[in-house]
Amino acid sequence: MAMLQVDLRQLSGGAATTSATLAPDDPVFSVLAFEFAEPVEIDGVLRETADGNYFWRGHVYTAVAGECRRCLEPALQVIDEDIELLFSANPELLDDPSVYALPEPVMTIDVASAVREEIALKVSAFPLCRPGCKGLCANCGADMNAGPCACTTSGTTN
Ligand SMILES: [Zn+2]
Ligand SMILES: [Zn+2]
Repeated sequence: MAMLQVDLRQLSGGAATTSATLAPDDPVFSVLAFEFAEPVEIDGVLRETADGNYFWRGHVYTAVAGECRRCLEPALQVIDEDIELLFSANPELLDDPSVYALPEPVMTIDVASAVREEIALKVSAFPLCRPGCKGLCANCGADMNAGPCACTTSGTTN
């Protein structure tokens, strides 16, 4: 965690490398409505911009555990994304919902919490176990990925 909490006194106009692998059950993720199936790998650099804001550019890799919306089998959702974060204490910039607010006085930047929010935005509420999952038969509940069920072979349409 410590490496994702950047003390800005140590940044002093330069850049700070932020890199950590967080456990799926790290407390920072406790507010999420979903669970990770793999550790969350975060790797990036935080820089102070010329206009006094802070810009983080990095990469996140993890996998989210879920259930296929069509067939209810486990559906793993891989998150493998480049992420850019802008942190600012400037009220004019904070009208933009993609900008993370910094409370004054600005002492530290919590990269982990912001990355958590970005992951939450990228996680689908409708995961599928595979592209084009055929789902369950509405009539008998059979997994249609395993092949036609008795309903379809007897001529009943779904
Ligand atoms: Zn499925
Ligand atoms: Zn059926």
